[in-house]
Amino acid sequence: NQGVAESDPDLAQFLAGELKRQQDQIELIASENIVSRAVLQAQGSVLTNKYAEGYPGKRYYGGCEVVDEAERLAIERAKQLFGCDFVNVQPHSGSQANQAVFMATMSPGDTFMGMDLAAGGHLTHGKSVNQSGKWFRPVAYGVRQQDHMIDYDQAAEVAEAEKPKVIIAGGSAYSRAIDFKRFREIADSVGAVLMCDIAHYAGLIAAGVYPNPFPHAHIVTTTTHKTLRGPRGGMVMTNDKKLAKKIDSAVFPGLQGGPLMHVIAAKAVAFGEALRPEFKLYARQVIENARALADSLQSAGFKIVSNGTDSHLMLVDLTPKGVSGADAEVALERAGITTNKNGIPFDPLPPMQTSGLRVGSPAGTTRGFGPGEFRQVGKWIGEVLDGVAAGGDNSAVEAKVRAEVLALTKRFPIYS
Ligand code: PLP
Repeated sequence: NQGVAESDPDLAQFLAGELKRQQDQIELIASENIVSRAVLQAQGSVLTNKYAEGYPGKRYYGGCEVVDEAERLAIERAKQLFGCDFVNVQPHSGSQANQAVFMATMSPGDTFMGMDLAAGGHLTHGKSVNQSGKWFRPVAYGVRQQDHMIDYDQAAEVAEAEKPKVIIAGGSAYSRAIDFKRFREIADSVGAVLMCDIAHYAGLIAAGVYPNPFPHAHIVTTTTHKTLRGPRGGMVMTNDKKLAKKIDSAVFPGLQGGPLMHVIAAKAVAFGEALRPEFKLYARQVIENARALADSLQSAGFKIVSNGTDSHLMLVDLTPKGVSGADAEVALERAGITTNKNGIPFDPLPPMQTSGLRVGSPAGTTRGFGPGEFRQVGKWIGEVLDGVAAGGDNSAVEAKVRAEVLALTKRFPIYS
């Protein structure tokens, strides 16, 4: 019964390499976070051995009495966090949570409306290469050109013209507070189901620092690994008993077989952490830090899409520097700062280039960064990208920032 270091040195080397990468760089990817040791431990537990098709008390396998309790605990904590009556904690991912809602509410060929990807929507909200776009008929609303805020009037017009069965509120790169009440009014005006995908904002909502989609949403989907700081996974919530039944059937046996009980246990641990008062402070700090970063980036000469943020993330418009998102991402990576290129609304550049970067504060805040550290990160981004914009050899600037990043990360260690 050897550990991985003895039984598989090759793989162990990759585990150690990834740990070092996470320890030594600054994580600005808005969808990532740093989970607690308790979450890691639950996910790496013996629950991985257990088959438990079905739901607590109604399983297709014996020996489920212990995992039943773990799943019930995850469900009860999630209900308390989001203020709802029903939760399915089994989706393996956010994408599968969304797929389950599609399966529960639509038939192939039906029309639904989501946020345009270019405006900040997600792949599963109707992209042509995704099942949502291949098997269903997506129509989209976007953001206003003048201020990059969701164009609710346009959403109402598209809904009226297209009569979608489902309307999705939520996205992956929209930094502002979403008016879920307005979306419900639009949904009601055409008899649509309102599905709010809060994958990005879940932790902020649980802490009460971002608008809660309940009681407006018919259904809420989320991931558990972004601001909520749990293991990778998904979840579906509702207050409607009929929809709840359909959602359970869609997740299992509709889409999945055995649930990942070790991941569900880790979800329970993360939800328990999110119920503590410290998590409220964390979430508040996430937003304060994001604002400090936005401010610092603006001082360094960048534009911020929508001119600020109400959440953990922002889109940085690089056009004032004449640098593409793709070039920015690789230069910053060399300097020890991890980001992702991202299209901005009305982006003239193609998706593999982009004019923007998406950055966020959840991971840095978890390791203890405050507004001072985030302001410094904004300055470093400015230094590195000014060097890229100038053309020529940028290696000295990148090496200098890399050394400073390393010194900062050593002051805020993780998993040490
Ligand atoms: N929904 C939104 C809004 C997301 O941002 C994401 C992930 O980025 C997902 C769904 C999908 O989650 P997963 O990557 O777990 O499938």
